[in-house]
Amino acid sequence: MIILKSSEEIGKIEKAGRIVAEVLKELKAQVKPGVTTLELDRTAEEGIRKRGGRPAFKGYRGFPATLCASVNDEIVHGIPSKRVLQPGDIIGLDLGAIVDGYYGDAAITVAVGAVEPAVERLVRVTEESLYRGIEQMRVGNRLSDISHAVQTHVEAAGYSVVKDFVGHGIGQSLHEEPQLPNFGQPGQGPRLKEGMVLAIEPMVNMGKDGVRILSDHWTAVTQDGSLSAHFEHTVAVTEAGPLILTSNDHGRV
Ligand code: MG
Repeated sequence: MIILKSSEEIGKIEKAGRIVAEVLKELKAQVKPGVTTLELDRTAEEGIRKRGGRPAFKGYRGFPATLCASVNDEIVHGIPSKRVLQPGDIIGLDLGAIVDGYYGDAAITVAVGAVEPAVERLVRVTEESLYRGIEQMRVGNRLSDISHAVQTHVEAAGYSVVKDFVGHGIGQSLHEEPQLPNFGQPGQGPRLKEGMVLAIEPMVNMGKDGVRILSDHWTAVTQDGSLSAHFEHTVAVTEAGPLILTSNDHGRV
């Protein structure tokens, strides 16, 4: 069942989302060669707590950290460690916070120092695909219109969308119905209604779409070792159009 949210509830999700957005901005500024992913995790946890939230991922199904930090061929769910970031790396930062019982969830991918133009392009296309998807989050559209828009943009650039992980409804739980794949034919699935809140999160591989899980049981990497990028926003479907709840600015596209 898809739980529709009142405008009051959307405001609560936005409160959590704003914290996520602010802390991601801090983390982005901290990403530099020589920084460890554990140091980023510390910033993430302190940043959420000092703003009155709680980390959403820490302890979730046993995940040991506040931040998912996924470097280079790691797609999602990387565990922060003593790994030192190197010039030319890219890092996916996925962060969730809970405030007054409501969740916000967002992710960005950031370049460490200068990266090759081909890598910059992967990151840019992935972020663009997120906004292509968000554009489709309009009352009356169908769920798979979002998926199709993401996939079309990614594949036109010569990349693959990851099929093994999907976006999701979000609210009083981190993961609610519906599942939101980043691929599919348009015009399928439930119609989008006012009050739906969805975390849309394209994961894009430079090579093929195959996924492998490391022995830590969390870290998902590309099977072919190619680079992968990830962007995510929590977005409400409203009569006035999509409203990004994890935005540092006004939230309208
Ligand atoms: Mg998510």
